[in-house]
Amino acid sequence: MLFSNIFNRLGIVSLKGRLKSWFLCFIALMVLMASIPFVFLGKQQKREDANVTIEKTIQLQQVVINNWFEEQMANIQALSELPIVKAFDLELMAKSLESFDQSHSEFNGVVYINEEGMTEIDTSGPTGIDLSDREYFKQAKKGKSFVTDVLIGRQSHSQIIIFSNPIYDSNGSFRGLIFGAVPLVTINNVMNQFHDESSETYLVDRNGMLITESRQGEIGEYISTKIYKEAIAGKPITHLYETKNGERVLGNYRWVHNNQWLIIGEIIESKIYEPFYHMAFMFSIVVLLGSLIGYILLILVSTQIESPIRKVLEGTRRIGERNFNYRLDKHVYEKEAIEFQELCDNFNQMNEIIENYIVTLEKSEERFRMIAEYSTDMITIHDSSGKYLYVSPAGKEILQYEDNEVIGYDGYLFIHPDDLEMIRGNHEILLKNGYVVSTYRIRRKDGVYIWFESSFKCLEGKKPDEPQLIGISRNITERKLVEQTLEETNRVLQELSTKDGLTGVWNRRTFDERLEMEWSFGLRNSAALSLIMLDIDYFKKFNDTYGHQAGDDCLIKVANAIDVTAKKTRGMVFRYGGEEFGVILPETERAEAELTAEMIRKAVESQNILHSGSAVSQYVTVSLGVNTIIPNEEQTIDQFIVEADKALYQAKQKGRNCSNSFIEQ
Ligand code: GH3
Ligand code: MG
Ligand code: MG
Repeated sequence: MLFSNIFNRLGIVSLKGRLKSWFLCFIALMVLMASIPFVFLGKQQKREDANVTIEKTIQLQQVVINNWFEEQMANIQALSELPIVKAFDLELMAKSLESFDQSHSEFNGVVYINEEGMTEIDTSGPTGIDLSDREYFKQAKKGKSFVTDVLIGRQSHSQIIIFSNPIYDSNGSFRGLIFGAVPLVTINNVMNQFHDESSETYLVDRNGMLITESRQGEIGEYISTKIYKEAIAGKPITHLYETKNGERVLGNYRWVHNNQWLIIGEIIESKIYEPFYHMAFMFSIVVLLGSLIGYILLILVSTQIESPIRKVLEGTRRIGERNFNYRLDKHVYEKEAIEFQELCDNFNQMNEIIENYIVTLEKSEERFRMIAEYSTDMITIHDSSGKYLYVSPAGKEILQYEDNEVIGYDGYLFIHPDDLEMIRGNHEILLKNGYVVSTYRIRRKDGVYIWFESSFKCLEGKKPDEPQLIGISRNITERKLVEQTLEETNRVLQELSTKDGLTGVWNRRTFDERLEMEWSFGLRNSAALSLIMLDIDYFKKFNDTYGHQAGDDCLIKVANAIDVTAKKTRGMVFRYGGEEFGVILPETERAEAELTAEMIRKAVESQNILHSGSAVSQYVTVSLGVNTIIPNEEQTIDQFIVEADKALYQAKQKGRNCSNSFIEQ
């Protein structure tokens, strides 16, 4: 993920480019890792190696120089001990010294000095020179042999060292000394054996004068290099320093000749690291060659990978262009690696599946289209919110809309307001259960509502979270009309059977049923039940006066007045027969019933229906009989009615237009 981001940011998007980048990173890492030993160990190692070499060389030199000194001294001592010399016959002595000088090439002149300090024999020059002030003479007098510092020869005028040894006669008396002069060139020759172009060893005396020649200078020249100073100070030298010529060198030193001389070994810095640089160069060549080979391999491998991928890529592009019958050529890819062959095979297989699927899909779409187009039912497709996506031709014909008047519009816009709530509920059920059936009205273009019975199914849409709703809706307007007519008829029949045709209040049959119900209720619950029986006063005369039709109208008005009043006290009004009515008052005590009776009487009278034939009032009036009972097993409903009737009769007796309660005698 991280690497992909980096690659994208750098614009390295192709497979090849990424492989190359990986390869470069790998090479860089390899070089880095391989360089660590070079950088941190290689150089240090080479320097230590050089130090060891110098150390060994100067150690060897030390031995050589010391040996050389001893050898020269031994030669002079041997000469001094020769009997022919000790005979002190000057002539013979001179011959001996001469032959010694000639046979020892390192000596350049041998001299005999007598006990007075005067030269008596000199193989290289004149005699008679007083050397009694010289150190070697002083030492000889003390009986000591001596080696001088570097001197300038009297005859040769070149640098020499003198090896001296005292001589004694057979009596043991001091008879002077013999010395041999050794030119520095001789030591130089010895030292030269250890020189090469990158390293050298040379001798310096305590004063810094070069005893042997070196890159630092000629014999006799003085140096003041760092190593010289450190040596004089007695310090070890641990780091590189500059020579007189400005060369950087690694060096070491040792004291020789009784700490009089320094042997300095030096090696030039560039020479120390030469093998290291050489190795590094070789390493670079190997890395370069390796990288080149790796790169070529990389190109080969990436081409191997890329070519089949490109083919598959081309294939997917074709599919994208709906070219589903495109297949990769087996002849072309069968030479690829097995994994790519499999990839290509799978690709072809996938294409075949897609092609078959598309064909099937097209067929099923065609079938759907046929069904949708030829079905007399309306087929609609909606999105999950109810918006119209498709309306079949039958639908458009029924509702008389064009596509552009419904497609894209919310289905709720067309639904009858009374059905909206129910449809919203069903919509939720549909989304939850996947299926729902609804009967509802949709507004036709002309505003008329058409009844539909729709079964809706919730199907998976193009996106999983956006289902589609498919509805098959049947126009049931006609059936609905028939149903409505039937319902109305039923309602009328129901009314006819329970209600009085003239006044609209409940009829006698219902009175009997209802009273029985209330009686049972009172029986069960020991509740009081009241009944008012009432009769219009002098109604016969009313008919006679105003005619039968007016009588009927009067009955309607009276029934209505009773009904309105009775309802105030939960009373139910029944036409008991002719111009006689019954009012059932469930759970009503006598006192309350009596009040209701009085209210009814007043209500009727206050209708102000003129009744000239009445003897009690100028308006139509009623007489009422009230009876109340807590129903029990001892009494019957009929008795209860009869008693109410009796009360009514008594009211008539009392003069009419009054109410009377039944009292048990
Ligand atoms: P009262 O009750 O005060 O003693 O005198 P009344 O004249 O009302 O006496 P009765 O009960 O004998 O008369 C009832 C009359 O009511 C007889 C009949 O002509 C009349 N009647 C009954 N049913 C109807 C009806 O449905 N329509 C009309 N117009 N008159 C009816
Ligand atoms: Mg009557
Ligand atoms: Mg009457």
